[in-house]
Amino acid sequence: MAVIIDGKEVAKKTREELKKEVDVLKQNGITPKLTVIMVGDNPASKVYIKQKSKACNDVGVEYEEYFLDTKTTQKELLELIEKLNKDKSVNGILLQSPLPPHLDISEAFRTIDYRKDVDGFHPMNVGKLVLGQDTFISCTPYGIMRLFENYKIDLCGKNVVIIGRSNIVGKPLVQCCLNNNATVTICHSKTKDVKEASKNADVLVAAIGKPKFVKADMVKDGAIVIDVGINRLDTGKIVGDVDFEAVSQKASYITPVPGGVGPMTVAMLMNNVVKAAKEQNK
Ligand code: NAP
Repeated sequence: MAVIIDGKEVAKKTREELKKEVDVLKQNGITPKLTVIMVGDNPASKVYIKQKSKACNDVGVEYEEYFLDTKTTQKELLELIEKLNKDKSVNGILLQSPLPPHLDISEAFRTIDYRKDVDGFHPMNVGKLVLGQDTFISCTPYGIMRLFENYKIDLCGKNVVIIGRSNIVGKPLVQCCLNNNATVTICHSKTKDVKEASKNADVLVAAIGKPKFVKADMVKDGAIVIDVGINRLDTGKIVGDVDFEAVSQKASYITPVPGGVGPMTVAMLMNNVVKAAKEQNK
């Protein structure tokens, strides 16, 4: 039976460490501040925003939100971002996705000052990650790296297989693993034989969005399995992309859903806000 990686516990520890850093910043007259922009009323986004606001409260980060109407124009959205870019009291700007389809999210992400891009989506920050430079790393991959660090899992020389190539999880995670000397394979919906690749993984990451996609016969004995997926079943139950019951019998380490990667994503957002505040007040 695998060791269950406790993301909740590592996230709590991360938040506690950040709170101490924030207390010191406050003693020096600096209160880190995150501003979240949401357009429309996507119910899942509302849940995520609530989690972010709660985390800010826990860590002592000031939190502000703008709820914009679904009919907001691209010009209005960009004007708000420009205004927040100029506002010295705002250290981090987060644009909650998805946006209504008439809005261009890439242009909006590009408009956020890269020094306030706490989600790590700006092309400047993505480029710096590729070059192995210090940057804002997108929160989910960064959270996964923090889990490896906490469980003393060294990626050097390991075969890492990532299923899913999204801009927010799969692609930045490839770079994080490469920067830690892993040999990385990335699979996607056009990959001919995902199982062939996954069976060779020392570390297997599933970021697909399909309940229980990864079955036990796709996993090598003793592999480390990271489940990024969040899927709500018709019963209301939340499950990951991995068949946890069967795969946990074979893996050496595994993340549960919920309680694995999810809490780390929010904790690393806080990490990025504190980093932004420190860098802007050097
Ligand atoms: P996404 O943008 O929909 O990307 C899904 C990826 O999976 C795509 O690259 C897609 O390939 C690939 N894929 C789909 N079907 C496949 C198949 N049959 N075989 C191989 N690859 C397949 O999703 P995402 O935003 O990365 O999110 C993935 C999951 O993680 C979702 O459940 C999401 O809710 C969850 N998530 C969790 C957190 C967290 O904090 N825990 C954060 C972000 C996302 P193509 O590129 O070819 O289409």
